[in-house]
Amino acid sequence: MKRALNFNAGPAALPEAVLARAQKEMMNYQDSGMGIMELSHRSKQFEAINERAKKLLRDLLLIPDDYEVLFLQGGASLQFTMVPLNLLDEGTTAGYVVTGTWGEKALKEAKKIGNAVEIASTKSANFKSIPNLSEIKVPSDSSYLHITTNNTIFGTQWHNLPEDLTVPLVADMSSDILSRPVNLSSHGLIYAGAQKNLGPSGVTVVILHKDLLKRSKPGLPSMLNYKVHADSKSLYNTPPTLSVYFLMLVLEWAESLGGVKQLELQNKQKAALLYDAIDSSNGFYEGHAEKGSRSLMNITFTLNNEDLTSSFLHEAEESGFIGLAGHRSVGGCRASIYNAVPLEHVEKLADFMNHFRLRN
Ligand SMILES: *Cc1c(COP(=O)(O)O)cnc(C)c1O
Repeated sequence: MKRALNFNAGPAALPEAVLARAQKEMMNYQDSGMGIMELSHRSKQFEAINERAKKLLRDLLLIPDDYEVLFLQGGASLQFTMVPLNLLDEGTTAGYVVTGTWGEKALKEAKKIGNAVEIASTKSANFKSIPNLSEIKVPSDSSYLHITTNNTIFGTQWHNLPEDLTVPLVADMSSDILSRPVNLSSHGLIYAGAQKNLGPSGVTVVILHKDLLKRSKPGLPSMLNYKVHADSKSLYNTPPTLSVYFLMLVLEWAESLGGVKQLELQNKQKAALLYDAIDSSNGFYEGHAEKGSRSLMNITFTLNNEDLTSSFLHEAEESGFIGLAGHRSVGGCRASIYNAVPLEHVEKLADFMNHFRLRN
């Protein structure tokens, strides 16, 4: 079977080795006579999967013992609500740095819960960049500061994080978790929907400092309470068992490649191929993001005019490239090159871009 040249933004490409293994285990998991999806979430087999996925994530991201790892549902979008519901104490504020559509949505939801305020935004410059750290002044009474580390839609990424914060940093890492090392100790909480870098959709990873669990009030709805999920090891209700199983497989694959540092090297190499195709095109391709804020995960660009952009997208599709149209809110083109997108596929895309430019 020929694998598609898949540049979808999410759900996105999964490692071929992961799919092949899942296919094998789908009908009969470890000689149980049951497929993965048929196992009880209270069974020994599933408990082992749940624990192994957590352990792998801890090892790969060097998560310290005083942090809790939760597997939840509802996508990153539910975290837009759960974060303020659990962490935004009455009489305080929460600061949001808005660097794209997802950050805007996070702030919008937080405002429904409490006093959430925009601390900095790059909206007036069409989200082409990440703000200077010097522009970010966090009121000292804030419950937390929220950022989006990679802006999936606009193709920008934070390369330096605010340091010496006196309030917990909360980061939406949906589209760049596991793509590079992360210093957990400078974060209070990180969250990520799985469907970009971690597996299929259906499971959301939340990693938070155990001190923050004290803020989750008993009166919160149980399903929205971090403490409830932490106390029940993410088995408070029926978890998305198949997604957690896939998460485990993707993490095993990441480990087998040499871990997060190795993935980061590959990601830099892949991104450089496409940014070179853009930068060496004499303006034929125009990158959306400012150079210092460029994402290693989502490469956004346009062509000189709309007609050329459509014929680029059309010809790309004919040549087998999937998912290159930009997000409907931005237009243009976007190549999402998460961990699982093979280098060879990115090389093919860079070649295609260069040949298309020469032909036009
Ligand atoms: C995709 C994405 C989301 C939304 O995730 P859902 O799982 O669909 O809720 C939120 N934030 C970022 C940065 C994303 O890339």
